[in-house]
Amino acid sequence: MENPAETYGKLVFNDATMRECLPSEAYNTLKATIREGKDIDLRIANIVANCMKDWAVKNGATHFSHWFQPLTGATAEKHESFLTPQKDGTAIMEFSGKELIKGEPDASSFPSGGLRATFEARGYTAWDPTSYAFIKEGTLCIPTAFYSYSGEALDKKTPLLKSMEALSEQAVRILRLFGNHTVKRVVPTVGLEQEYFLIDKKLFEKRLDLKLCGRTLFGAPSPKGQELDDHYFGTIKPRVSEFMRTLDSELWKLGVSARTRHNEVAPAQHELAPLFTTVNLGVDQNQLMMEEMKKIADSLGLACLLHEKPFGGVNGSGKHNNWSIQTDTGINLLDPGVSPSENAQFILFLTAVIRAVDKYQRLLRLSAASASNDCRLGGDEAPPATVTIFLGDELISILDSISRGVKAKGKGAQKMVINVHVLPNIPKDSTDRNRTSPMAFTGNKFEFRMLGSSFNAAGPNIVLNTAVAEVLEDFANTLEQAPDFDKALNDLVRKTYLKHRKILFNGNNYGAEWQKEAARRGLHNLATTVDAVDSLIDPKNIRLLEHFGVLGKTELIARREVILDSYCKTVMIEASTMFDMVAKSVIPFSNRYLKQLCDTVSALRAGLKGAACESQLKLIRGFSEHLESLDRTMETLCEANRNAAAMDSSKEKAVYCRDVLLGAMAQARRDCDWLESHCSRECWGLPTYEDLLFSV
Ligand code: ADP
Ligand code: MG
Repeated sequence: MENPAETYGKLVFNDATMRECLPSEAYNTLKATIREGKDIDLRIANIVANCMKDWAVKNGATHFSHWFQPLTGATAEKHESFLTPQKDGTAIMEFSGKELIKGEPDASSFPSGGLRATFEARGYTAWDPTSYAFIKEGTLCIPTAFYSYSGEALDKKTPLLKSMEALSEQAVRILRLFGNHTVKRVVPTVGLEQEYFLIDKKLFEKRLDLKLCGRTLFGAPSPKGQELDDHYFGTIKPRVSEFMRTLDSELWKLGVSARTRHNEVAPAQHELAPLFTTVNLGVDQNQLMMEEMKKIADSLGLACLLHEKPFGGVNGSGKHNNWSIQTDTGINLLDPGVSPSENAQFILFLTAVIRAVDKYQRLLRLSAASASNDCRLGGDEAPPATVTIFLGDELISILDSISRGVKAKGKGAQKMVINVHVLPNIPKDSTDRNRTSPMAFTGNKFEFRMLGSSFNAAGPNIVLNTAVAEVLEDFANTLEQAPDFDKALNDLVRKTYLKHRKILFNGNNYGAEWQKEAARRGLHNLATTVDAVDSLIDPKNIRLLEHFGVLGKTELIARREVILDSYCKTVMIEASTMFDMVAKSVIPFSNRYLKQLCDTVSALRAGLKGAACESQLKLIRGFSEHLESLDRTMETLCEANRNAAAMDSSKEKAVYCRDVLLGAMAQARRDCDWLESHCSRECWGLPTYEDLLFSV
């Protein structure tokens, strides 16, 4: 086997490659562009493009593509060949600076939420030099932002980059107040833990629901599920192990530092976590990771499921967004540090996050909302829909003592900031125990756990970055003018903590008592996507995002439309798929068994005069009752799907999809599951939960 350290990043036009290939002037200009977010001039772009192309061709590429993330949440690419025919019948490989910097894919069919009509559907892509270009399947992929003719963002990356800028600017202001004059930029960092299921491809192919919807729409529970907790961290089976090895190796070549891999709680469920990196790169790499997972699974006769709830009755999959803020000098601002000054600075940043999350809890909730994640959140396996922060007892007691003005004893030699001198080194153990919290402080970062496994992680990071930027801006405005910095800092921390401590909760977020307590505290409980979606057009939230130029009002209105539209379509496709499967599988299978039962009764009666056939008759009655009930539900479902399709208002339609369509599907599922669990294995032609969960 090749040494992975030698092939790591082999397919990435990373810093080392750039330094090697580029003339030093071009290299330095490009680095400055990356560092300071400046525009690059065409002369340098031409040099960079040419080097990139030479490197890519040497590594087997024939095409290039602007790689972007439209509002579908997936990635998009359109390949163009480097090949340029010459007059004499030969050809050369060419790639210009212009082609590197800007592209114009015909983009009429991407969701835009009404921002563009099809006839004026010009869309542009613009190179993002802060995320490295890479080679995928013989194509040089250039990470790009995607926007409309009139400049509106049509993707997830544009607002993410803007939110990072906003956070950097405000965080640097705060650092200056603490006497730091060296830091030029601050970047949010992210480590995205990715959960997924692996099942056998042949079985996957037999289930229309898995193929079209990514999840099973019905399925009687397997006699054994996750009760024994024997899968979590269990020995990895050979086929899965082969998958993981291949995946790691491919990801490493793409410069994705896949680090941790293990079996998860549900049978057939696994997790991969990379090392953290900047938010922009982390999100891009996570998209790449999901794509590789699907592709490699397929090549090994497996199917990788990224849906948030592929199976009822066992855990679904999430994506944990570990988030922190780091200076360009490598200091983690959410690390408590060791000196009093570092501690005070840490407390200030910590307080900023608390306030940001409390103030923008609805927006954060929405950032983790989708029809598929609605199936998982709040189900005693994932955080509820109410956003809270877990800090641990130690930090809470420190904040408490600050708020009560209890002076910590100690020497005054060092600059006395905040009433605590040196915070105890906060042990990770005391902070990362609470697995039920939507947002847990885990020693030197926050772990936001509401995201669904299939998500593009840009959304939650846009909200976190921008909301924290706003609080830091406010803090900086106050502190910069304060005649007595220490006193002002103390006051600020105290006031902020007292006002926003309602968002802090160390207890069990899954408990029923918590729901009541959360309501008493006035926290939002937005159970579904439909409940959460209007937070995008809440004036407070529009103000926040507009203030930092992250997203404007029209863009937010459009994004709300996109979310509602995707929600409705998802539910309606599920309803149609269920209808199809009931008609073509569930009913015929049940009838086949019913016929066998009836034949058995006739045979028994012929052979044994006066045979009561009670057990058979009971089953026959059961089958016919459930089939009748299913038939009625299918009529409702069909009609409801037609009604939904005819509705104009997207919000009204979404409410209808949630209440009527999903309601009818739940009813149909009860009948299907009864029929499946009473039917003979021979007659039931679909892979069952035990087949799907225990076959790899
Ligand atoms: P756990 O399963 O306990 O949550 P893991 O080790 O699986 O822990 O995942 C932790 C994730 O957090 C990793 O991706 C790691 O790189 C990331 N992480 C660590 N430090 C930071 C940081 N400062 N900023 C962002 N992410 C971080
Ligand atoms: Mg985790």
